[in-house]
Amino acid sequence: MNLDGLRAALDGIKVEDNPAIVKQKSRDFYWYSPILKQRLDHITADLIVSPSSVDEVVAVLKACFEHDVPVTTRGTGTGNYGQAMPLSGGVVLSMAEMSEIFEIAPGRVVTGPGAIIADIDKATRAHSNQELRLHPSTANTATIAGFVAGGSGGVGSIRWGGLRDLGNVIRLKVVTMEAEPRVLDLSGDDLQKVSHAYGTNGVIVEVEMPLTAAYDWVDVLVGFDDFMASVEFCNALGVQDGILLKQLAAIADPLPFDYFLRHKKFLKEGQSLAVAMVAPHAMDAFVTFTARHKAEVVFRSDTEKDLKGLPPAYELAWNHTTLRGLRVDPEITYLQVLYPFPNQVERVRAMTKMFGEEVPGHLEFVRFDGNVTCFGLPIVRYTTEERLEEIMRLHEENGCPIFNPHRYTLEEGGMKQSDPIQLAFKKEADPKGLLNPGKMIAWDDPDFDLTSDKIWLFPGLQPVE
Ligand SMILES: Cc1cc2nc3c(=O)[nH]c(=O)nc-3n(C[C@H](O)[C@H](O)[C@H](O)COP(=O)(O)OP(=O)(O)OC[C@H]3O[C@@H](n4cnc5c(N)ncnc54)[C@H](O)[C@@H]3O)c2cc1C
Repeated sequence: MNLDGLRAALDGIKVEDNPAIVKQKSRDFYWYSPILKQRLDHITADLIVSPSSVDEVVAVLKACFEHDVPVTTRGTGTGNYGQAMPLSGGVVLSMAEMSEIFEIAPGRVVTGPGAIIADIDKATRAHSNQELRLHPSTANTATIAGFVAGGSGGVGSIRWGGLRDLGNVIRLKVVTMEAEPRVLDLSGDDLQKVSHAYGTNGVIVEVEMPLTAAYDWVDVLVGFDDFMASVEFCNALGVQDGILLKQLAAIADPLPFDYFLRHKKFLKEGQSLAVAMVAPHAMDAFVTFTARHKAEVVFRSDTEKDLKGLPPAYELAWNHTTLRGLRVDPEITYLQVLYPFPNQVERVRAMTKMFGEEVPGHLEFVRFDGNVTCFGLPIVRYTTEERLEEIMRLHEENGCPIFNPHRYTLEEGGMKQSDPIQLAFKKEADPKGLLNPGKMIAWDDPDFDLTSDKIWLFPGLQPVE
């Protein structure tokens, strides 16, 4: 890595080398995991480079290729598996300045990679009362390209499925890491090459996303004396085709009362919750459905007089539940679990019985290949790494696949298999392996046994000083 040569080549492009700022911009929410925190705490880049145009991205990648400098692309660093951390140092390429919204049309929006998701929604609402189909619960701080490259779904997934589903991303413009970087427009099947690839095989410089009708979504909390009653309620509500929802989660006692401090005045101790976002015109039907289930609406934002200081419902859900928990009790951690259709409720019941208070439940209801099922982000009362591994193993042995949030590689955090399409594109688009090194095992160590319980250690990981 020739950093002096690189600096000279980057003349005219914004570069930051203040060690404190460089370290800060070399981090994401990796500290969510006690295991990643221990392994990645010392990681830092050498330089932060902030391009302001596609031409500047091309110039940076060309210079980094020539001088053998690794490049880890960053949106705003809200990913929570160390995805945006530069394991071998080099350049963090901050896309935050490329935040322009280029075009809004019926059903679609075109933006720069660094556009903040909530800003896109604001602009599309003002333009034509449209909004993005999906957003992470970090919409107020995360970038759209960071979502496509590092996220999976979130608010809106109960209606639209996940980012991987055909139609939920329309087109991506990507720059390759070669002697002469190419600018490619990817759509259709080609989207798989770089979607959820952690920026290991290209830098996204433009994003075209589908839009849907925007509503003044009503936040609703429904209280239950028993967690499984909230699960059954959500499972039945999720398939009510006539009730338009944007968000639906079930969260077990004691998490709501202990963690949702701003909403505490609406909650009773011992209550589990369903957390929903409902279209205003569906509220009558929603209330009727709730009454049929003899459930109690404890909060609804359309009738509550004083909403001051209350976060939106989606900031109680997804990984915000974990974030609120970590603020109250830094010793907790969490899992990511799929409870496959059609036995999701039985699988949740079995896991709840097996782990009790050690693993309080948190379920996000999602449409998965056309069926409504639930994805879990349960809280874990963390004791040791061994016990955490055992809890994950027991889930898998009982038919509940784990997407391990305590790993920094694509494979270990995903389906535990390499992605041949992403690997083939990396060979073509990043022949020197300089993009986000250490995140794709298939590139660095194709013979690694992904079914083993062992954590893969990237040989190029910066040593602790
Ligand atoms: C409290 C909390 C809640 C969350 N909720 C959700 C959720 O509901 N759903 C969800 O999917 N995720 C969620 N996340 C994870 C994360 O916030 C989102 O995925 C977010 O969209 C990431 O955007 P970012 O700009 O912060 O990306 P970053 O963290 O900066 O980057 C994410 C990954 O994408 C790569 N990348 C970034 N920009 C580009 C680019 N232009 N080209 C190529 N690669 C790029 C990075 O290298 C990295 O690997 C949550 C995280 C937290 C901490």
